[in-house]
Amino acid sequence: MRDRSENFKPDDNQPMLFNFSEPEPGLAPEPPAARREPETVTPNPVPELHDVLSEPALEPRAWGREVWRFILTWRLQFGIGLALAVIGWVWLRPSVQAQSSPPSRSETAKPSVVSEPPAIPREITPAIAVEPKTTATPPPSQPATPPKFAGQPKITWSSATIDAPSIAMTFDDGPHATNTPKLLAMLKQRNIKATFFLVGECAKQYPEIVKRIVAEGHEIANHSWSHPNLAKLSDEALRSQLQRTQDAIVAACGVKPAIMRPPYGELTSRQRQWVNAEFGYKIILWDVDPLDWKIRNADHVAHEIIGHTHNGSIILSHDIHATTVAAMPETLDALLAKGFHFVKVSELLALEKSSTSVEPSAPPVVAEPPAKPAPKKSPKRRK
Ligand SMILES: [Zn+2]
Repeated sequence: MRDRSENFKPDDNQPMLFNFSEPEPGLAPEPPAARREPETVTPNPVPELHDVLSEPALEPRAWGREVWRFILTWRLQFGIGLALAVIGWVWLRPSVQAQSSPPSRSETAKPSVVSEPPAIPREITPAIAVEPKTTATPPPSQPATPPKFAGQPKITWSSATIDAPSIAMTFDDGPHATNTPKLLAMLKQRNIKATFFLVGECAKQYPEIVKRIVAEGHEIANHSWSHPNLAKLSDEALRSQLQRTQDAIVAACGVKPAIMRPPYGELTSRQRQWVNAEFGYKIILWDVDPLDWKIRNADHVAHEIIGHTHNGSIILSHDIHATTVAAMPETLDALLAKGFHFVKVSELLALEKSSTSVEPSAPPVVAEPPAKPAPKKSPKRRK
């Protein structure tokens, strides 16, 4: 080690902390000013750090050396101070964290310092990074976002929220002169009850079929007079579409419908409220759509329905299409084999216990066939 005295001049006016200046045996005492033994002893008075750092002639290496010497000289004090700082930080940190934790989500929730694990990494503060108590209450569940029509009774259904394996098979756009009677026979053979959403024009044309539908235990429903997009109609035009159909159904079978389905599923939220208020109808959509109007293939229709039906499903199909009716034996038998129980739509809704459910803000994105038959797209099989 180089002589520290090169860069450090002891202050003679400062009293010495330690005196290692005892003369060696056999040596004559020397004047104090002549003794220079800084390397083997540390008699030098301790300088202030700013005095060392402010030394203008110090080079970078000398700087580091002097700082290191300063630390070594005060290592005991440094160690104590550092230990006190660490102990104080560890001691005070939990209370600081408790105060700075975000407020719990519920007024009744336990304080977060108990129910939530600390956010501090364990490797930094193992003393407080403990597992949360097993008795801590789980975080309260967030309340559901208030629906747009909170408080209003539910009037629109795409399916029923039930645990039972009940489903509703629905047939739209009829009655049809030949396909509907065929379908009725299939249903009767299996003791299956279904729901028919009738177009007023057809109901007026085939009142005997309407009468038979009701007589065999099925439900009849209103599907407008001429199958327009009701969402584009005025209230009076909408009223006419529904009223004329209802009149034709009542005239044919004596039963007033309790439910309706808008063609293409198109009915504005305001219109649904209006229809419910004016006619007392519940608006019925669907959650299973085999696109039987578009894909005229019985196997496809059967596969789609069988594969997508679940408890509470409302299945859309059209008995005006021969391929749909042809798909029914396989479809119905498969659903029966899977344990499903066929009920009418009104019966399915009655199974839904949550009568306090509210109206959704918007109907599901759905599509229904146009009233006119779609062009055939390479049907594989058709009867
Ligand atoms: Zn339709």
